[in-house]
Amino acid sequence: IHGSVVTPAEARVDLAAIRHNIEVIAGHAPGAEVMAVVKADGYGHGMVPCARAALAGGATRLGTAYVQEALDLRAAGITAPVLAWIITPGEPLDDAVAAAVDLSAGTGWLLDEIAAAARRAELPARVHLKVDTGVTRGGATLAEWPALVDRALALQAAGLIQLAGLWSHFACADIPGHPSIARQIAVFEEALAVAEKAGASGPGIVRHMANSAATLTVPDARYDMVRPGIAIYGLTPVPALGDFGLRPAMTLAARAALVKRVPAGTGVSYGHLYVTERETTLALVPLGYADGVRRAATNRAEVLAAGRRRRVAGRVCMDQFMIDVADDAIREGDEIILFGPGTAGEPTAQEWADSLETISYEIVTGIGSRVPRVHR
Ligand code: PLP
Repeated sequence: IHGSVVTPAEARVDLAAIRHNIEVIAGHAPGAEVMAVVKADGYGHGMVPCARAALAGGATRLGTAYVQEALDLRAAGITAPVLAWIITPGEPLDDAVAAAVDLSAGTGWLLDEIAAAARRAELPARVHLKVDTGVTRGGATLAEWPALVDRALALQAAGLIQLAGLWSHFACADIPGHPSIARQIAVFEEALAVAEKAGASGPGIVRHMANSAATLTVPDARYDMVRPGIAIYGLTPVPALGDFGLRPAMTLAARAALVKRVPAGTGVSYGHLYVTERETTLALVPLGYADGVRRAATNRAEVLAAGRRRRVAGRVCMDQFMIDVADDAIREGDEIILFGPGTAGEPTAQEWADSLETISYEIVTGIGSRVPRVHR
């Protein structure tokens, strides 16, 4: 855990943990390809280094939300297949087609825009057709699906697109045994049958549905490829079922910027929401809500400092918060760990999520851009 922090704070990312996590995931999906989801800057862990680590660990493809994220992977020299799945009307898609980025389409207008870009690029666009099996976000409904498949096949016959995938996404995979899981698989099967009958099936067309939770807990959902995100970073998608042997990759560390001894009855930070009960030692942690340490952590979340867990003392400010280390020895410059794998007694991102009544995803993706990511 102890490293050489030379900035006020840093997010250390253990790339060996990412490789290990891919192996754990692949062990749950024998015979399936792994698409590592690296959107949102690799869930806050740094997109490009995490993408490379995931590929080194055995992932064969990458997934992003925005097209620009996929192009950023290409700009970094990554040539593995990349799928981008959130596209809005009028977005320029020519670069994506030219860079052989796979594009998701769940509507006719988007298929047409992709085909127009392909015509300009003089290259067929690789398309994954999305069916909404019950998450009620993106994707064609089952009623719209046959027309979408037919339109895609017509564009394929015209040489403008190449069908590369058929896919969907779960609503409640993180709730073990939720009845919607089996229902969504049944709808997906129906959609696959429609596609097959129309001629949209075969080895070049991967079927995929499973996020981390489904990959680890729903064998029927794995199909040709799984699409895990959070598990790659070592955070459990189903906290109630434990950690699945995953290793959290990120450690968020800061250095005490100031240490001060104060008497009993001292009000601390904005609003004086923490008042010392007796003479004590306070330390200033140089991270705040601008860095993703949410204001709701005030008097709630814990950190590891001077060998022990300490609660945030008083308001979390934009760039800083205080902790109370009582009579323990702490010096300015000493390392304070907000969260990490938990192996040295520090809280995990899951514990931060629990104390803020949210999910670990929001904790790690929320770490601000001011905090350097240090990959090792
Ligand atoms: N697939 C899609 C379409 C997603 O939007 C996401 C992330 O939200 C994932 C897969 C990965 O999900 P998770 O991080 O829960 O594994």
